[in-house]
Amino acid sequence: MSFRATILTLYPEMFPGPLGVSLSGDALARGIWSLDARNIRDHGIGRHRNVDDTPAGGGPGMVIRCDVLAAALDAAEEPGESRPRLLMSPRGRPLTQARVRDLAAGPGVTIVCGRFEGVDERVIAGRDLEEISIGDYVLSGGEMAAMVLLDACIRLMPGVMGKEASGTEESFEGNLLEYPHYTRPREWEGRAIPEVLLNGNHAAMARWRREEAERITRERRPDLLSDRR
Ligand code: SAH
Repeated sequence: MSFRATILTLYPEMFPGPLGVSLSGDALARGIWSLDARNIRDHGIGRHRNVDDTPAGGGPGMVIRCDVLAAALDAAEEPGESRPRLLMSPRGRPLTQARVRDLAAGPGVTIVCGRFEGVDERVIAGRDLEEISIGDYVLSGGEMAAMVLLDACIRLMPGVMGKEASGTEESFEGNLLEYPHYTRPREWEGRAIPEVLLNGNHAAMARWRREEAERITRERRPDLLSDRR
C-alpha cells in the first residue's frame, strides 16, 4: 500500500516541485508515494472564487475562510479516511524525527497549507486539524513547510534509500546528532582522516563515533541530551 499525500493549497503548481527530483522524485515515479495537490480556490465563494476575508476584530492581513477550507477538505477525502489531517502552522507542535517516523509508517497525510494570516480557528477544531510547525520562524505560506515534512517522511519509506542507509544511525536517533563523516582523499590541505576510522578496529571505531556524537550534541544541542529517554 502506498503512502498518499493530499495537499490543500492556493498554489498547487508548487507541487511536486523539489519533491519531483532525486530520492523523493524517484519514489514518486515508482509509486512508493502518491501526490494529489488540490486548489482550495476550487471551493471559493462566488464568481471570483473568494477564499479569504478580513479578520474579525480587525488587524492586518486576511484569513482563509472556514467554510471554504472545510469544503475543500471534505471534497478531498474519501469516506472512512484514516489519514491524519495536518495544518502547517508556526503555532504547531515542532516537527520531530519521531513524528516523521510515525507518519511515514502510516497510510499518508492530508496537509493544509496556510497563506496570509492563516486559517479561521473554527475549521481547525471542526475538522480536527493537527497543527505542525517546522521551526520558530514565519514563512509566507505552508507549501514549503509541507514539502519539508513530506521529504523527511518519504526518505524513510521502504525502498527509498539503500538498505544500509536505513537511517538508524542518523541525527536525532537516540536524541544524538550524528558523528562526523570523512571520505577520500586520506589527507587534504594538511587535514587527515582520524586514524581510528582507518585501522579496521570496529569496536574502537564504534566507540569513537559514539563519543563524537555525544560531544557534538553536548556542544550544539544540550537540550537534546536532557530529553533523552
Ligand atoms: N499569522 C500567522 C503566520 C501566518 S504565515 C502567525 O503569526 O502565526 C502563513 C502560513 O505559512 C501559515 O498559515 C502556515 O501555513 C505557514 N507557515 C508559516 N510559518 C510556518 C512554520 N514555521 N511552520 C509551518 N508552517 C508555517
